[in-house]
Formats: sequence, C-alpha cells, structure tokens
Amino acid sequence: MKEEFTVTFWGVRGSYPVPGKNTLHYGGSTTCIDVTIGKVTIIIDAGTGIINLGNTLAANYFKEGSKEALNLTVLFTHLHHDHTQGLPFFTPLYLGQSKLYFFGPLEFGEELRTVLERSMTPPNFPVDLQSASSIKRFETIGENHLILYQLPDPKPNLINKFHDTYKITDSTVVVKVMKDFSHPANGVFVYRVEYGGKAIVFATDVEGYLFGNFKVISFAENADLLIHDAQYTREQYTALPTPRQGFGHSIPDMAIEVAKKAGVKTLVMTHHDPAATDTQLKRNQTKYKRRFSNLFFAREGLSFHIS
Ligand SMILES: [Zn+2]
Ligand SMILES: [Zn+2]
Repeated sequence: MKEEFTVTFWGVRGSYPVPGKNTLHYGGSTTCIDVTIGKVTIIIDAGTGIINLGNTLAANYFKEGSKEALNLTVLFTHLHHDHTQGLPFFTPLYLGQSKLYFFGPLEFGEELRTVLERSMTPPNFPVDLQSASSIKRFETIGENHLILYQLPDPKPNLINKFHDTYKITDSTVVVKVMKDFSHPANGVFVYRVEYGGKAIVFATDVEGYLFGNFKVISFAENADLLIHDAQYTREQYTALPTPRQGFGHSIPDMAIEVAKKAGVKTLVMTHHDPAATDTQLKRNQTKYKRRFSNLFFAREGLSFHIS
C-alpha cells in the first residue's frame, strides 16, 4: 500500500525567532520541517518551530491512545542556534513513551551527542539531555551513510552504503546525505528523502556560487520539491559597508538557478531573514514567481503532499 508523503513547515526563519505583527503571515519561528510517510516521522532541524510540532505530536499520540512507542527521527543540517534552540522545549523529549533517533554531523571533531548535551547542561538549561525521560539514540553521520525505513516500521536503519548490504523496495523510505561547504564555519548537510519514486530535498544554509552550486544541483536532480535557503535580498547581499556575501546564505536568484538546473518541479524558499516583514516577503514571492512559476515562500503551517 502506498503511504501519503507529506512535508510541513513549522519554522521558516533564519538566525533568531521574530514574533510580532510583521511576521504573522509567514511566521517567526526558526528552522524546522517534518516529513511524514505512513508512521515514519522525519523532523529536520530543531529551531523553535520544533516546539509547536512537538506539542502537536504529543497531543496526537495521546489522542490515538497507541500502545506503541512514539518513534521520531530528528536530522540536523548543522548545529547553529537557529537549528537547535527549540530542542530543550520539545515535548516528546520528556515523554517516556518516545524513542528519538538523532542524526547529524561531526562538528569540529565533536560527536553530535556531545554538542547537543552541552547545549542542555546547567547553567545553560536546568535539565540535562540524558535525564529527559525519552529513549534516545545519537548517530554522527556522513555522506557515506543512508538512513532506511522499511514501512510500516518507523525505526530508522543506518547503513554504510559502501560496506553494508541493503535492499530498496517500494516500501523503503531512503534518506540521503550530502555535505555542502558554503556555510561557515563547518558546512551543512543537505538531505534528500525518497519514497515511491518521489523525492524532496532540504537545502538550508547554503550559498550560491557563480553558475550555480553544482553539488546541490546534482543532489537535487529531478526532485519533486526543493526547499532552498533564500535568506537575503539581492540588495542585502551586495550592500556596502556590510555585504552578506560569504555569510553562507542565498538570495532567491541563486535558489532559482539551482531549481532550474536540477529540473525540480516545485521550489520553496526558506530561512527568511529576521528583518524580512510579511509585506516584503509577499512582494518578493510575486516578483520571483515570474521567474519560476511553481514557487512558494515558506510559511509556518504550509504543507505539501508529494504525489
Ligand atoms: Zn540557519
Ligand atoms: Zn547556520
């Protein structure tokens, strides 16, 4: 049986959260999306958007009255604040019924687990990560890995694609990992989730290059949905005395170049600058839709059914 493949945005903002009257339409929470396929839930990044997601997942879990564990995967693109700061307030972390599988990069020689634990250690936060009631697994991963799910089982299997034997069938969800080096100071992971002949790619905190970021273009080839960083306007990117060039983020023109060269069907711009108001984002969406018709600017609550 083919399961529904859905992507939902919970946090679309870069750098820091911006609640307030100027961000009501697109939302002020920092980066978080979830990808659901049957019972598989893959969360990408734990910006403050993960707080609402966690509350929703916990409420649904108790409403269903399931006897099974709440299995959730959390993938990290990198460990900057705007991609981790919601984790201490992620309700499933504190539920004994949860089984959480964390995957992310080695950062400056440190394992994912070490970095996350340090961010939740007194005096920074009163509860340390290990004492939260959920069962937690941490895996530091790289481009040599695949994460596979054999539906309907929501548990991930970490595969070394050069050494392990594995089989991909119609009921396999595949997560691929790519390392991009355009983001300071240690790069980011770009993730590609595939199921039933469809694919989505999440490429936040990446910057364009002359003629296009070809590593991202190749990784996103023929994706049904590409979610791409577009933090800055062209003016911010170039304006003196503080041009944003080299900050590791894109402008919409770069995202469109990648989308066109990769042949993707739908493009979503995300990681909006905290200074970008709803009015500015709406104006830019209209402007750039002329260049790529199937284009959306990410907003909290936006969902895509990939079919
Ligand atoms: Zn970021
Ligand atoms: Zn970053």
